Amino acid sequence: MRVAIIGGGPAGLMAAEALSLLSLPKGDASSFPPLSKEGTSSLPPLSKEGTSSLPPLSKGGGGGFLQSPLAATTTNPPQPPFGKGGGIQIDLYDAMPSVGRKFLLAGKGGLNLTHSEEREAFLSRYGNRRANIEPLLDRFGADDLRAWAEGLGIETFVGSSGRVFPREMKAAPLLRAWLHRLRGAGVNFHVRHRWLGWDVAQASSLHLSFATPQGEKTVEADAVILALGGGSWAKLGSNGAWVPLLQQRGIDIAPLKPANCGFDIAWSEHFRARFAGHPLKTVVASCLDGEGREIRRQGECVITETGIEGSLIYALAAPLRDHIETEGGALLHLDLAPGKSLQRVTEEISHPRGSRTLSSHLQSRVGITGVKAGLLREVLGAEAYADPARLAIAIKALPLRLIAPRPLDEAISTAGGVRFEALDEHLMLRDLPGVFCAGEMLDWEAPTGGYLLTACFASGRAAGLGVLCSAGVSPASSI
Ligand SMILES: Cc1cc2nc3c(=O)[nH]c(=O)nc-3n(C[C@H](O)[C@H](O)[C@H](O)COP(=O)(O)OP(=O)(O)OC[C@H]3O[C@@H](n4cnc5c(N)ncnc54)[C@H](O)[C@@H]3O)c2cc1C
Repeated sequence: MRVAIIGGGPAGLMAAEALSLLSLPKGDASSFPPLSKEGTSSLPPLSKEGTSSLPPLSKGGGGGFLQSPLAATTTNPPQPPFGKGGGIQIDLYDAMPSVGRKFLLAGKGGLNLTHSEEREAFLSRYGNRRANIEPLLDRFGADDLRAWAEGLGIETFVGSSGRVFPREMKAAPLLRAWLHRLRGAGVNFHVRHRWLGWDVAQASSLHLSFATPQGEKTVEADAVILALGGGSWAKLGSNGAWVPLLQQRGIDIAPLKPANCGFDIAWSEHFRARFAGHPLKTVVASCLDGEGREIRRQGECVITETGIEGSLIYALAAPLRDHIETEGGALLHLDLAPGKSLQRVTEEISHPRGSRTLSSHLQSRVGITGVKAGLLREVLGAEAYADPARLAIAIKALPLRLIAPRPLDEAISTAGGVRFEALDEHLMLRDLPGVFCAGEMLDWEAPTGGYLLTACFASGRAAGLGVLCSAGVSPASSI
């Protein structure tokens, strides 16, 4: 059986790993979480008949090679006729010269792999797609992910925020160890292979067309896993070019939108020149969700040339983006003095200031200085400074009008994608039998905090195992 995986990000690589489970000698499989959670009862047993009925493989599957520093010296090892995969030939294709580029970029921020919070809170991060993501995480959740990383020799730790990181706060050692294990399990890597869609000369959805340095190439597979990522940071490989290709085949796709993104604000020239790049530390941001309930988050953000961004803003980005879409704009309120109540701020401001300037009064009584003072001046008219009650209200809930989300390419992640309704329980496209989807290209979103990678890994694994299951092949029960 030949399985073509397109996309070598966390989802595609995890799909390859799940498929290669079939190939791992028992001793090597200990680092992968047990399959008992899979509900293996629903999987057909791995009978000899099951594998022997698989179609024979062509020998010509290899040929690609990794050219990244991570794999500079690697060519794919020669494959036994049926691959090490006990009858499964796993070919992973990626448009870029090396795999896992966005994953490596995530490593620059310390690689927040997952989160340690309790299950209910964790699941709530997936919003209205919780019901779709929950079964995936039931089978490969935060603890499984940590165990898996440790199986690759990567120790993890829980940071003070509850976020989970590799001890080394880097992605490269993990990716290097992972690729080594995948190659050892017989996965063939074909980089610089840009998927162009389906071979038009063939009616089947299992004949794939690729642009390669040697020209266009067609590949026939028995199953295909698409793990093409979202539409942000196109220079790292995921550019959303797959959307029209799937739409042409009648697949229902929610429009791609920026998630975990910054927003534009019409700053005055003076404010922009003076404060762009300045961090706003320890503020509380609030906005309304779709049902009109207030959401409040404490954290940090940054003033930019065009508006505002940073982890605090990303946490509220989905409702802000949706408000802008429906109302043409959105209000973000900032509490610039979160440690003090409105009454206390009012009292402090009302305190006689003697000969001091208002700026030094605000600094000494309420800690408003620098960029916070600049923001107040940017938003308030001069008359507001004469009224302590009005000034205090502004300090506790300064309204910023957001005009637009930043473009998708700049976002940390992508909302929208292949709707779950188009997929069966194995993540196979109902209208394209044999074609599975995983990762950020599916229609879900989550805030930063490790929730993105966790769901990408979990869906990649589910798609890999889904291929096996749909083909009537079950991984060895001892794994
Ligand atoms: C700056 C930044 C920091 C981040 N930090 C974190 C973090 O700390 N924690 C976290 O949970 N998440 C983080 N993320 C998000 C996380 O990296 C992504 O959600 C994750 O990489 C998505 O995995 P994926 O496998 O679905 O897609 P991707 O990682 O985007 O991989 C898709 C792959 O498909 C390939 N591809 C696309 N189109 C084609 C084609 N036509 N033909 C062939 N190949 C193709 C691409 O080259 C790419 O290799 C971060 C993202 C960014 C941008």
